Amino acid sequence: MNFKKSNKLYKKGLKHLVGAVNSPVRAFSSVGGNPLFIKKAKGTKITDVDGNEYVDLVLSYGPMILGHRHKKVQKAVEKALKNGYSFGASTENEIKLAKIVCDAFPEMDKVRFVNSGTEAVLSGIRLARAFTGKDKIIKFSGCYHGHQDALLVAAGSGLATLSLPGSKGVPEGAVKNTLIAEYNNLESVKKHFAEHDDIAGVIIEPIGGNMGVVIPQDNFLKELKDYLETKGALLIADEVMTGFRSKFGGAQELLGVTADITCLGKVIGGGFPVGAYGARNEIMENVAPLGGMYQAGTLSGNPIAMAGGISTLTELKKQNPYEKFEEIGAIIEVILLETAKKYNVDLTVNRFGSMLNPFFTKTKVTNFEEAQTSDTEKFAIFFWEMIKNGVFLPPSQFEAWFLSSALKDKDIKVIADAVEAGMLAVSKM
Ligand code: PMP
Repeated sequence: MNFKKSNKLYKKGLKHLVGAVNSPVRAFSSVGGNPLFIKKAKGTKITDVDGNEYVDLVLSYGPMILGHRHKKVQKAVEKALKNGYSFGASTENEIKLAKIVCDAFPEMDKVRFVNSGTEAVLSGIRLARAFTGKDKIIKFSGCYHGHQDALLVAAGSGLATLSLPGSKGVPEGAVKNTLIAEYNNLESVKKHFAEHDDIAGVIIEPIGGNMGVVIPQDNFLKELKDYLETKGALLIADEVMTGFRSKFGGAQELLGVTADITCLGKVIGGGFPVGAYGARNEIMENVAPLGGMYQAGTLSGNPIAMAGGISTLTELKKQNPYEKFEEIGAIIEVILLETAKKYNVDLTVNRFGSMLNPFFTKTKVTNFEEAQTSDTEKFAIFFWEMIKNGVFLPPSQFEAWFLSSALKDKDIKVIADAVEAGMLAVSKM
């Protein structure tokens, strides 16, 4: 396997693109090496410009839940393209996708489509403030909610990968209303309420996916929701990653908790740029044109993206792959754990349905601090062995691996063989 063409494109890309990437999570800096350049993908496989083929566990960081270029999605999008790309006016498909989304979340009467997860969350936060008339928001360390100023503190994803506490260029004033709590620790939330009486709500990834996978323990989410109700504060579920992935109704359906405001992205666009935020009527009626909270978008509800979203969600509902995800996820988890044991490698695997990842640590991982006990040098060695053996992973210890419903036994065999090579290499360090 060689990466000649990728390396050449990387050098060329450096001239006019920052680090030759358009999102820092695509840089390979934390695993040492240059980013791969992708040519195409189909089903479970992704192919780079050098012709190397991988079983794809990145899946565009989650959206490609049916695998790449599912024929029904491809057909729907091609059909939409024939009618035009963007109108700056409403289309029937926006209503169709809105119904599919609202039907999946029992507390969601209305939804507003935007173009990314970042936009969904920044609008959801603005809405929580508009509805409650309060300013402060609690977030959990290690959770990532997109790159809006107010939430770029103690954030996961690329910031965790690059060991950045926050972002330069974010003025103090922009984060002065952001309070940080510890995931899985309700007391750390209560402490803030004891000190502040102007907290609008708490934003959470109901299943953490941006510090690696971190699972809410016991009844954490339910207790959080119950507590917030006593305080008149809102629960804002950032289901950008988990929406339609954990279950059709997201992590909320899986965990039996309903949020006041839900933010969505990734899967709802099936690979096209779509985000959304939604809530019950009394909350959504604050959004312009019904109310005074302003939020807009030239390309929002884009017809091509709507077609991608409708066809993806319709097919997903039909396939109902959640049991299959559970089975395959469990198989991969066992492969990781047993192979690590065979080679005497300390490993913790966190998994919830179709999101999982290994941490190279003995410690259980229930929050960001524990996630950071993972040996990232071991991860880097493991990562390259996986690549060389045909499995494409996120180039970071702190990103989730994703499963698609297209996965077949032969893909799992490729994964198992790659894990064997990866753990052997780690054991020799
Ligand atoms: N929230 C969560 C939970 C996410 O995982 C992400 C992206 N990884 C975002 C928000 C931001 O979404 P986007 O990258 O589409 O802006």
